[in-house]
Amino acid sequence: MNEMKSFLPADTAFDHAGARLTIDLGAIVANWKDLCRLSGKARTAAVMKANAYGLGAVEVGLALAAAGCRDFFVATPEEGSRLRLVAPQARIFVLNGVWRGVEGPVLTDGLIPVLGSMEQYAFLRKIAPDHSYALYVDTGMNRLGLTVAQAALLAADPAMKPSLVLSHLACSDEPRHPMNQRQCESFREVTGLFAGVESSLCSSGGIFLGPDYHFDLTRPGISLYGGEAVIGMQNRMRPVVKAEARILQIRNVETGEFASYGAAHRFERASRIAIVGAGYADGWQRALSGAGTALRQNGSSGACGFIVGERVPLIGRITMDLTTFDISHIPEERVRTGDYVELFGPNINLDEAAHAAGTIGYEMLTSLGQRYARRYA
Ligand SMILES: *Cc1c(COP(=O)(O)O)cnc(C)c1O
Repeated sequence: MNEMKSFLPADTAFDHAGARLTIDLGAIVANWKDLCRLSGKARTAAVMKANAYGLGAVEVGLALAAAGCRDFFVATPEEGSRLRLVAPQARIFVLNGVWRGVEGPVLTDGLIPVLGSMEQYAFLRKIAPDHSYALYVDTGMNRLGLTVAQAALLAADPAMKPSLVLSHLACSDEPRHPMNQRQCESFREVTGLFAGVESSLCSSGGIFLGPDYHFDLTRPGISLYGGEAVIGMQNRMRPVVKAEARILQIRNVETGEFASYGAAHRFERASRIAIVGAGYADGWQRALSGAGTALRQNGSSGACGFIVGERVPLIGRITMDLTTFDISHIPEERVRTGDYVELFGPNINLDEAAHAAGTIGYEMLTSLGQRYARRYA
């Protein structure tokens, strides 16, 4: 576990936390089952890199393994070893592969490295000729992966028996992008070289491109966690995370006063503001600060919070531990110190919040700080 250890009993800590996360494991499992259906004949894995997109690899891994998920993808050998503790039977693929110095956990924990270069391939064959491996083939993204020509060279060896051949789409969040079809055709060429070997092309976005893209195994990540995989398509995945911050203080300010660092926000009318216990140290990024701050050039209005059925605008600069919301339009008796403002969750979409910071849901989730009290539902 890399969460900070609490000095209070878990429930007390959650009920009084300055910042807290509610993570709905049932929604993750339901999203996985939907993705299984959408993947048609293909089996559906779960991508768990970066601590299951910040949500807790142990908890998420247990829930998905219990639901019947048998294939997991992580980025690093350490992530694989950690997941192995809760998924003793699963196939755990390590997307970044294997290299000298990290082979220990790969071998002892039975992880399957996804070999993305001839160098990695030669290394594994030398140290453990019988160990299972997958092959990563680059079909146009120029990130990790063998070239198609290198894959063809390896395929010519009759002793070659990878557990899986995979590639990754560069533009699956844009269904009409011509790269999708080009990569799919190129990958079909590759799978033709490896008869009888399982193949995998799709992350979340690719699943929505249809059966031509599904091959034998799909690899969703963000869709499991409720995030947007395809730009401009209605996101039908269930929201999974609610992030909230506690109101530590409410204050009244007069016209002409200022808020937060840089005095960058000037009140144009008498206002009531709520100071809440989350800031950029919690991954509530400073770039979410409103348009009144010097930070933003593009006129984006910044993020907002949600409380008692109302949206409340964020004002002034987000600081390390604190954020300010304008609650002037809410009747005084409806909001008190100790209430919680939703930062994102069922009422404020994760991706909407992310876009206000000029980023994507993936980064919002994987940046979630260590200070949040977490409750799994
Ligand atoms: C991260 C990743 C995925 C999952 O992508 P999502 O867009 O989160 O579904 C799948 N495959 C590879 C190779 C990845 O790096």
